[in-house]
Amino acid sequence: MKTVIKKIDASNMSSEDFKEAAELLRAGKLVAFPTETVYGLGGNAYDSTASARIYAAKGRPSDNPLIVHISEFSEIEPLVSHIPEEARRLSDRFWPGPLTMILDKSDAIPKETTGGLDTVAIRMPSHPIANRLIKEAGIPIAAPSANASGRPSTTKAEHVIEDLDGRIDMIIDGGSSDIGLESTIVDLTVKPALILRPGYITLEMLREALPDIEYDRAVLKRTKDENIVAKAPGMKYRHYAPKGDLTIFEGDIDAVSGTIKKKVLEKLEAGHVVGVLTSDELAKRYSDITNARFIHGGSNAGSKENADARVFIYDIGSRENEAEIAAGLFDALRFFDEIKAEFIYAEGFTEGGLGQAIMNRLMKAAGYHIVEV
Ligand code: AMP
Ligand code: MG
Repeated sequence: MKTVIKKIDASNMSSEDFKEAAELLRAGKLVAFPTETVYGLGGNAYDSTASARIYAAKGRPSDNPLIVHISEFSEIEPLVSHIPEEARRLSDRFWPGPLTMILDKSDAIPKETTGGLDTVAIRMPSHPIANRLIKEAGIPIAAPSANASGRPSTTKAEHVIEDLDGRIDMIIDGGSSDIGLESTIVDLTVKPALILRPGYITLEMLREALPDIEYDRAVLKRTKDENIVAKAPGMKYRHYAPKGDLTIFEGDIDAVSGTIKKKVLEKLEAGHVVGVLTSDELAKRYSDITNARFIHGGSNAGSKENADARVFIYDIGSRENEAEIAAGLFDALRFFDEIKAEFIYAEGFTEGGLGQAIMNRLMKAAGYHIVEV
């Protein structure tokens, strides 16, 4: 299949820009598009064939439900069996934006879209291209993250091309996703409401609207073996994993950077390619490693210069600026694949606030391989 790549400038767009994409979606075809969280792989949410195509294109297990995207609140009505008062409250505060709500589904939504569940996940993205695409198509759009299943989510059109070129009908290139981590998922079908996946909208923010909301226990787990089944089916799969072996080191920053450096030198000695995921604060501690290449914030990530380097120190940003770390995380994980890192060492980030979402993704990427030092 030939994948059409369509550039759209969010600050200067017209209906004409969306004509082909909207027609493709109405015909049951697949279009990847930017949102403020990550890129989505969209299909008609009412069309079971379109949903089946999404699973096939991603190589995603078909029991892992899709998120249905709408462009205004009234579009929720045909999708759900009833609208709880909590949904209106969350919508008033956080929509459009990076929040997904789980509600009881209506019969109009096929089980293929919801991975066989009687509930449906719904989100109203704030990205102007996503919003316009849904409006122009005139249908709700089912869209999981636009990555091959198991790989880090895509935050740039180039990532989508890497994973899905030739497997879908169109990719809309609208630049980088600002937030860089997937939406917060809240289950409103249980009381108290539960956070099934942490994201940019934090527990603290949600409690201002729903004071008794809690994390699902699976969100807080820190080891692979803890016997807790995630309520969001997608959270149980191996996820975001780079091809190299990723380990997170936590503890006092002197001990963390000391241990990482020791590990790097050991692996280097043994002839391996090594990656380090670090911050502005710790990056300088690695400056005396010979033949290391330093990458800052993804700006020159992917360039093949200094190709004979064996150690790649990827500085993702300041530990003080969690939004910057969130925005660059998936790009960094993809970079380590590109340079074929065999071992990757990451420092841990503070949990709480947005750090909860960052560490949730990083721990999954590491298969919960966390070492306290
Ligand atoms: P993605 O868009 O790739 O981030 O995947 C969507 C996420 O939403 C997955 O983790 C799903 O398991 C979760 N999800 C979607 N629908 C539901 C639902 N009805 N109940 C629980 N989790 C859901
Ligand atoms: Mg995903």
